[in-house]
Amino acid sequence: MSARLRANGVIIAIDGPSGAGKSSITKLLARRLGYLHIDTGAMFRAVALMAKRAQIACEDDPALAVLCRGLDISFCRDGENCRVLANGEDVSGAIRSEEIGLLTSCVSARRPVRDALLAMQRGMGEAGGVVLEGRDIGTVVFPDAEVKFFLSASAEERGRRRYLELTARGEQVSLKETIDKVALRDRQDEGREYAPLRKAADAVDIDSTSLSMDEVLALMESAVRQKLAALQGE
Ligand code: C5P
Repeated sequence: MSARLRANGVIIAIDGPSGAGKSSITKLLARRLGYLHIDTGAMFRAVALMAKRAQIACEDDPALAVLCRGLDISFCRDGENCRVLANGEDVSGAIRSEEIGLLTSCVSARRPVRDALLAMQRGMGEAGGVVLEGRDIGTVVFPDAEVKFFLSASAEERGRRRYLELTARGEQVSLKETIDKVALRDRQDEGREYAPLRKAADAVDIDSTSLSMDEVLALMESAVRQKLAALQGE
């Protein structure tokens, strides 16, 4: 780990499989620290949505490269929430469907997509003062991030959480089907050639299977504050 404070603070990387609670925790942690929250999954989802609209097949690398070159992804704050804009259009709702989730897993394994988003993510985060959540933040995007976490939970627990979320939104899904989809997404994210999901050697491992959100947040905040104190004392 590098030992310096950047212009706006430190870089905090939170990686882990889908459904481990990264989004909610990252949002809360960023708010407590006054940091920017960068949801890199939302950026890959925006690419998948645009590819679907343009009828680009997931394996069509040249077309994906052209799509990414013409795509501007940004985040804008809306009260407590953060909206995702693709070429100025608010796609925050459209990127959250199950269909886009699975398509994202496929599109995000393609080299041109990873290269394009890698450059965007580095540009957004290099000055520090950011919490980035994703799959490869601590290993590929910012291997020199000052604080890294790997947040996981069992596939059954993650599937159960997702099931409760979907049924609360009125979607008709079965628990087994939801757990199976979580496991499928894990296999795709862990098995891909470029930037597969894996824990950075220097990441703090947190298993949230039987921890509340407050407990996870407390663990993270304490690790970050210790790091900040150490860097400020240097
Ligand atoms: O985090 P979220 O579930 O929204 O991410 C959607 C998909 O985007 C993941 O399943 C993964 O395939 C991809 N992703 C990625 N690298 C990241 C963030 C997300 O490949 N840094």
